[in-house]
Amino acid sequence: MLNIVLFGAPGAGKGTQAAILAGEHDLVHLSTGDILRKEIASGTELGKQAQGFIDKGEFVPDRVVIDIIRSQIEQHPDAKGFIFDGFPRTTAQAETLDRLMTEKGMQIASMVALDVETGELVKRLLKRGASSGRADDRSLDVIRNRIDVYHRKTEPIIGYYHTQKKYHPIDGTGDIADISDRLRRHVKGL
Ligand code: ADP
Repeated sequence: MLNIVLFGAPGAGKGTQAAILAGEHDLVHLSTGDILRKEIASGTELGKQAQGFIDKGEFVPDRVVIDIIRSQIEQHPDAKGFIFDGFPRTTAQAETLDRLMTEKGMQIASMVALDVETGELVKRLLKRGASSGRADDRSLDVIRNRIDVYHRKTEPIIGYYHTQKKYHPIDGTGDIADISDRLRRHVKGL
């Protein structure tokens, strides 16, 4: 089994690279952001709860995203592995993911972080906002808040995985294909 956490700031390219890697290794791609946006689009109770947080660029509460991940893992008992994209985003989420994995006899092989500097992130997010219609990518204030929340709440997770010797940063800039190559080379060695 191959379970990978794809890590990075908003706009680092997690979704793009996760989809490519999932396709190449036949892994289940779990993006909490995508799942939450689907819930919002379907008008579910969960979606209604999440929308206020997402629109402000704040995190949806840990228990909500943890429940989503737990149920997704359980819905794929025959998976060859999972790529976690946008999860974990807090230390509590990272600890819970490890617990969930242990319960199921699985483990995270690597946490791969896509490194991109802030100016480039903002540029990418504004560009995506203009084309994708994602409301949280259209406001500079919301983008700034998401990056700020990333620094305060998500970056500390690096230490958590570093201690486990699972932290592996790669350069997240340049052509999408070049970034995929870097990622592929690392994953091959796992
Ligand atoms: P990005 O990485 O560009 O911020 P995502 O699609 O991963 O985009 O997430 C969009 C929003 O969904 C986040 O800003 C947050 O409000 C919510 N969200 C997604 N994943 C999580 C998570 N693991 N914990 C809390 N909130 C989350």
